[in-house]
Amino acid sequence: MSTLTQAQPDTAIPARLLSVPLAVTFLAEFTSLTSFFLLLSVMPMLAAAGGAGSSGAGLMTGSLLLGTVAAEAVAAPAIRRLGCRTVLAAGVVLLTSLLPARAAASEPSFVMPSPYVIAIDPGHGGSPTSDPTHLWDPGVVVGAVMEKEITLDLAFRLRTLLQKESVKVVLTRTTDEYVEISERWNRVHASGARMFVSLHVNAFDGDPSINGAAVYYPKSESLPFAQAIDSGLAQSLSRFQIQDDGVISKPELWVHSDIPTATIEPAYLTNPRERSLLLQNDFRDAIAMGIFQGMLAADPQIDLTRIQIAHAEAAAAAQRQAEATSASDAARTATATRWGLIIGSILVLWVVMRTAIRRAVRTPQPPAYRRRTYRRRRSHSKL
Ligand SMILES: [Zn+2]
Repeated sequence: MSTLTQAQPDTAIPARLLSVPLAVTFLAEFTSLTSFFLLLSVMPMLAAAGGAGSSGAGLMTGSLLLGTVAAEAVAAPAIRRLGCRTVLAAGVVLLTSLLPARAAASEPSFVMPSPYVIAIDPGHGGSPTSDPTHLWDPGVVVGAVMEKEITLDLAFRLRTLLQKESVKVVLTRTTDEYVEISERWNRVHASGARMFVSLHVNAFDGDPSINGAAVYYPKSESLPFAQAIDSGLAQSLSRFQIQDDGVISKPELWVHSDIPTATIEPAYLTNPRERSLLLQNDFRDAIAMGIFQGMLAADPQIDLTRIQIAHAEAAAAAQRQAEATSASDAARTATATRWGLIIGSILVLWVVMRTAIRRAVRTPQPPAYRRRTYRRRRSHSKL
């Protein structure tokens, strides 16, 4: 058989599966692919946080996906033309740009307005102790009823109403403690309050028939404020038939005050009917509500600030929601990235195998069955 004599001995050099240029190409491809997949998890979040909304985030995802496909097509020619080092450097730049992008995405894009501050002074306070120098002041006392307890309770009720209006409330005392008038004003002043009320209940020694609600103001600057509180109180207490004694100038009270200030005496503890009302929850609620309505009428900024805070809180909630959505998007993207890398690796492996097979084909070798025959023949000839 003539074909047998043409067979060559096994002298071909075995093809190298992984050459250095191929390894570098593989590394460059891997870096560029990873950069794009990581960008894909961050850039839509950045777009949404920047005010582009979910449609903007979707557009960003779409363009990044297109970019990824384009980059995959461009990567190999780019490496050929620019060299693997340039392409690798570009990949590194893309990767390091992720951290600032992520930081920018998490920055809040709104400003929370500062709350409206109101100071409340529960009049009197403090109980006697074994220390004779310790000061205490129960206010008006009729039987077991003490003014200091009523004023603190009224302050708590008013605080609850104001806090529902997003107002920041500062009390000059929250417990049964003795506080000097100057110290009370220091606390009000330090709070940055924009209005201030001091709560008391009235007394008239010797005539229990004296009754009614009155509001005192220290200076003419506080007159409109005192009038607003008085009309709110009069309206709220009318169903209890409390006489409205109006506003009264008392320049000796709160002399240092430079904000709208009023001292409120909603009823007489020395009047039997008003005393029994002062022990009722619904009457105390009505006093707090009257003062609250008066405050709202005195300055529209209270309600405007509440609306601004509500809007800012809604914006904050929307941003938290967007961040949560981005986080779940990022999780999905991470899964997609893993699959992309797996498929990409398989593709790269397939390319490597094909290249290796092509190189092997270029060096012809005798078919396996012929080689076996040839070897058999050679061994025969030796016999
Ligand atoms: Zn008092």
